[in-house]
Amino acid sequence: PVTEIVAKEGPSSPSYDWFQTDSLVTIVIYTKQKDITLDSVIIDHQDDCFRAEIIIEDYSYLMHLRLSHKTEEDSSVRVVENVGKIEIVLEKKENTSWKFLGHPLENHNSFTPKKDAGMYYRKCQLISKEDVTHNTKLFCLKLPPGSHLHIPIGQHVYFQQTIGGTEVVKPYTPMSNSLLSDFKEPTLHSNKFLFFLIKIYPSGLFTPELDHLEIGDSVSVSSPKGNFKVSQLQGLEDLFLLAAGTGFTPMVRILIYTLTSIPSLRKAKLMFFSKTENDIIWRSQLEELSYKDKRFEVEFVLSAPTSEWNGKQGYISPALLSEFLKRTLDKSKVLICICGPTPFTEQGIRMLHHLNFSKDEIHSFTG
Ligand code: FAD
Ligand code: NAD
Repeated sequence: PVTEIVAKEGPSSPSYDWFQTDSLVTIVIYTKQKDITLDSVIIDHQDDCFRAEIIIEDYSYLMHLRLSHKTEEDSSVRVVENVGKIEIVLEKKENTSWKFLGHPLENHNSFTPKKDAGMYYRKCQLISKEDVTHNTKLFCLKLPPGSHLHIPIGQHVYFQQTIGGTEVVKPYTPMSNSLLSDFKEPTLHSNKFLFFLIKIYPSGLFTPELDHLEIGDSVSVSSPKGNFKVSQLQGLEDLFLLAAGTGFTPMVRILIYTLTSIPSLRKAKLMFFSKTENDIIWRSQLEELSYKDKRFEVEFVLSAPTSEWNGKQGYISPALLSEFLKRTLDKSKVLICICGPTPFTEQGIRMLHHLNFSKDEIHSFTG
C-alpha cells in the first residue's frame, strides 16, 4: 500500500495577468483565496514604479515593476471576493499600446512569509497637528496619491525619520479622529487620512522631532504590522479594555468596531489608567460615548491624583481588576485587551492569569 505523506503547506502563490484598452491598463491578481478583502491589498505607485503587496494569511505576495509607460499615480482597486480576484486599473497618460507591462524590480512576483518580507515606507504628508492634552497631540497624515493602504484594526505602523544622520524607526497606532462621529469607523483607505495620537516626551529621541514637523512636511510610514486579528472579536459578548496612558491608542478602533459591528456584544468596559486628570485622553468624548451607548462604561484610575479626585486611584491591582472584570453572564465570551507601559502590561497579564482568564481571552499589545 502506498502511504501518502501530506505536508502542511501554506497558501499557494497568486499569479497575475494584465490587459489594456486605449486609455486603461488593468492588472489582475488571482489570489486563489475566497476571503480576500481590500484590507489585504497595499498599493504604492509613484512615478513609473509600481508596487502591489497582497497579504494572504501569514504570507505576502509582491508585484514590483517599473511600468513600461507613464500612467496617472492614482489607481482604482476592486476585489471580486467570491473568486479572490484583485483588479487594479491604471490610467495611461498617453493612448499608446503597451507591448509589455514593465521591467521587474526587486522581489517581483515573489510569495514569501510575511515576517521575511522587507519593510516598505511611503512618504506621508502632515496635514494637521492638534493638542489633545498638555503633552499629547493628534497628528493627521495624508497618504500619497498613488498609495492604497488600509491598516487593520489593532495593528500599528512604523514611522521612520532621519535624526542627526541616523535612521530612527518607532511604532505608532492609527486611530480614528473621534469616538463620536456617528459611531462609524471612518474608511481609512477611501479618504487617505491616517490619525495618530502621540505623546511628546521632551527628552525623548523621536517625538520632539515629530513635534517640530511643520504642516506639509513628510513622514515615512510603513505597511501595517501586528498580531491582533479582528476575528478575535467575532461573537464577543463582553469586551474589557485595560489602557494606561497612550496605551489607549489601540483600544479606539477596537471599541468603535465592536460597538458598531459585533451584534452579540452586551458590554464594553474601559479601565483607563492615567497619572492625573490633565493626562486623561479624550475624557469628555469617552463620557459622552458612555452616555449615548449604554453598553459602554468607562472608569478612570489615577496614579497621581490631586486631593480633589474622588474616583479610583493607584496602579493596576488584583482588587481593581476583580471588581471591574465582571462577566455579564457566567459563560459569556470575553476578550480583555491590555496596553500601556511594559511593567503595567506585564503585571496586568499576570493578574489576569491569577483571575483565571485564559490565554485566548487576553490580548496584550506590546512591541
Ligand atoms: P524615547 O527616547 O524612547 O524616550 C521615552 C521616555 O523615556 C522619555 O521620557 C525619555 O526621557 C525616557 N527614557 C529614554 N531612555 C531612558 C532610559 N535609559 N532610562 C530612563 N528613561 C529613559 N506612542 C504614542 O504616543 N502613540 C502611539 O500610538 C503609540 N503606539 C505604539 C505602538 C507600539 C506597538 C509600541 C511598541 C509603542 C507605541 N508607542 C506609541 C510608543 C512609541 O513607539 C515611542 O516609544 C514613544 O513615542 C517614545 O519615543 P521617543 O523616541 O520620543 O522617546
Ligand atoms: P504614563 O507614564 O503617563 O503612565 C500611565 C499610567 O500607566 C500610570 O498612571 C500608571 O497607572 C501606569 N503605569 C506607569 N508606570 C507603571 C509601572 N511601573 N507599573 C504599573 N503601572 C504603571 O504612560 P505613557 O507615557 O502614556 O506611556 C504609555 C506606554 O504605552 C508607552 O510605554 C508606550 O510605548 C506604550 N504603548 C504601547 C503600544 C503598543 O504596544 N501597541 C501602543 C501605545 C502605547
